[in-house]
Amino acid sequence: MDTISLQFTEQVRAQLALANNITILTHKNPDGDAMGSGLALYNYLQEKGKNSTFIVPNDLANYLNWMPGVENTIVYETDKDKAETIIAATELLFFVDFNHSSRLSAANDKIAGLQIPKIMIDHHPEPENIANIVYSRISASSTCEMVYELLNGLENDNTLSKDVATCLMVGIITDTGKFSHNSSNPATFMAAAGMLKAGIDKDFIVDKIYNNYSEDRLRLLGHTMCNKMVIIPEYGTAFISLSLEEQQKFNFQKGDAEGFVNYPLSIAGITLSAFFMEKENMVKCSFRSKGDFPANILSQNHFKGGGHLNAAGGESQLSLNETIEKFKSILPEFEKYFNNAKA
Ligand code: 5GP
Ligand code: MN
Repeated sequence: MDTISLQFTEQVRAQLALANNITILTHKNPDGDAMGSGLALYNYLQEKGKNSTFIVPNDLANYLNWMPGVENTIVYETDKDKAETIIAATELLFFVDFNHSSRLSAANDKIAGLQIPKIMIDHHPEPENIANIVYSRISASSTCEMVYELLNGLENDNTLSKDVATCLMVGIITDTGKFSHNSSNPATFMAAAGMLKAGIDKDFIVDKIYNNYSEDRLRLLGHTMCNKMVIIPEYGTAFISLSLEEQQKFNFQKGDAEGFVNYPLSIAGITLSAFFMEKENMVKCSFRSKGDFPANILSQNHFKGGGHLNAAGGESQLSLNETIEKFKSILPEFEKYFNNAKA
């Protein structure tokens, strides 16, 4: 069973002994795993008496705005001066849930040249060489699973606080779609069991994440699936899109379209699902796939993005319609994966 190495845990222990001012960074548009792993580390370090700060590149979505410690999170984009003062005094950096400097957006300019120890904990493929100490495990369900093992190893005695365990559970739940994908490794359930032992209220967490949306959001979901989903049967593909005008019509709030891209995969015979969302200066692209279809390669090669085999994201500078046309035109490149799925 894949699990954390003792060597990594001991390296982290040694670094923690040397540093008091510690900053944790995660990727732009932070999702549940990014916020979960970052806030878990933040809370843990605070409990240990360290002066820790969690910085996110841009604002987070409402569905995560209740997490323990979230009120102390610094948003780089809106609080640049404060973030830069903190970064300048930092003695140790943690990178969680990303492995490419581009995922930090503008915050990367302040990080890249810093001559201080950098520790990366992440589960995305092909890590870039941006940290001194790296724990990368593609088979992990989530970065939260890895942080759980780290903290458990550091403590040796299963004494995570309820706050830390609550944050970690958010990442496992969201990155596995409530234990439906990326969760066939016993390590994932052992981590979840440890969190339950720490006293988390799992039902409360699920309720906060999934049952806390606006009426507009549910109507937007209905509109998107009913009126905007296009199926391309010969390529086992479905895609959805939302223009800025449609978003305005449904009073779109950040995070409202979270998870939309997963729904078309529930149709029999669909192997690839894509979602194109128009933004002010680009089109945000999301891809989800089944089996061995490499959504990350598709995104990396054509949409300046990346991610996991079955969940990837990217962007396009073309118009919404041109982006959709481009997407349709590249599908033949991936024909063998559609055929594999049919076999
Ligand atoms: P989502 O579709 O939810 O935005 O992203 C799905 C997955 O793809 C996430 O694991 C995320 O880390 C990754 N991802 C999303 N956007 C980008 C991007 O612009 N670049 C890269 N390299 N990965 C991305
Ligand atoms: Mn993740």
